[in-house]
Amino acid sequence: MLQARGTPLDLAIFLEASEPTIAFRMAHRLTCSRCGKVVSIGRHVQSASERCPNCGGKLEVRSDDNHAALALRLEEFRKKSLPLIDFYSERGLLAKVDANQETDRVFEQISRLIQE
Ligand SMILES: [Zn+2]
Repeated sequence: MLQARGTPLDLAIFLEASEPTIAFRMAHRLTCSRCGKVVSIGRHVQSASERCPNCGGKLEVRSDDNHAALALRLEEFRKKSLPLIDFYSERGLLAKVDANQETDRVFEQISRLIQE
């Protein structure tokens, strides 16, 4: 599809994060009920009782941000998305980024990969 559009895929980035990292971030993630901005407790706000830094809306926990849902989402990821790692790797298109790092470091590395 991308080739037909004249924009072939030349890079696939795999953000590798451990399950504890994913669980921690999920537990600290809130979504604004008004504008949809996603924020993290400890990064964008200090507690869940604060208002959205973007629009002042109420911040809420996503209904599927719980441990049972996370287990299902990780299982789904292993079945459907993990095989893509080999697919892109075999074609020389895969780059991996350690997503356990601070988000600013992850962003820097993604930016560098895109520029290279
Ligand atoms: Zn908002």
